Amino acid sequence: MNILVVDDNKFIRQVVSAMIVDSGHVAIPVDGHLPALAELSKGTLDLVLMDIEMPEVNGFELTKMMRKSQPEWFPIIFLSSNDSEDYLTRGIDAGGDDYLTKPVKQVILSAKIRAMERIVQMKGALDRANKQLEILSSIDPLTQVLNRRGLEDVLANAWQENTRQEAELSLLMLDIDFFKLYNDNYGHPQGDKCLTQVASVLNKTLNRATESLARYGGEEFIIVMPFTPIDGARFKAKELNLALQTIKIKHEYSSVLPYVTMSIGIATTTHGASNISELIKQADIALYQAKKKGRNCSQVFQNKQAEQ
Ligand SMILES: [Mg+2]
Repeated sequence: MNILVVDDNKFIRQVVSAMIVDSGHVAIPVDGHLPALAELSKGTLDLVLMDIEMPEVNGFELTKMMRKSQPEWFPIIFLSSNDSEDYLTRGIDAGGDDYLTKPVKQVILSAKIRAMERIVQMKGALDRANKQLEILSSIDPLTQVLNRRGLEDVLANAWQENTRQEAELSLLMLDIDFFKLYNDNYGHPQGDKCLTQVASVLNKTLNRATESLARYGGEEFIIVMPFTPIDGARFKAKELNLALQTIKIKHEYSSVLPYVTMSIGIATTTHGASNISELIKQADIALYQAKKKGRNCSQVFQNKQAEQ
């Protein structure tokens, strides 16, 4: 661990630093609050040993300053020659984690460092687990594409970015044709397999760097296409219809083709949607029109006022 030793007494800095090095750690001795805060801002400190009585800014104040400038927790241990209960209380209230009195024995200091090291490691494991959980919570477990929650985040970002840059944002809503008949006749496990295959085909046809695919629910998917005018979205929809038709997933109960196909509704921000849910609504209406048109095709949402 990288351990900062803040003390205005040169002799104490040297003795404590030597103990730290003996325990197998790196000591960074500093005198006063300015070099201490400068070290903290590098982001490489694991632990701070803090004197209390110092001429310009005392240890209580410096601890408060450090906690304010670095919201991520790291351990701070006070090292003071004052063993009063009042000092101990003030130290913990200021944001310290432990309190040792000087002169400190090597064995005590080493043990405290080990205990703090353990907490630091546990915190690291917890942070990693939380991050993993956050990623998992936005993924659909069956198809491994974004779920509705993940879609909401992506759409909110895309909407904001496109509005800021006055660009066009397009959205495709896709629905597998006659999927209920597929499930009823082939069974749900086979239905799940079909969904996974469709998601994989869609994924392969996307430009992964800019476009996002999400499972919207059941057999419905949404593709978010930032900075894409309507022509680009229409072209992509044709490409997707063709890609799915090409892999020929058997569907004898479909009246379109003996294969799994899908219908696609397209909406874009230049057609009057004033927020995300309106854009989704428009794509949904367009999807309904694509179904009515005979399925296995795409349809762009038409704003009636714009047509006049
Ligand atoms: Mg001092």
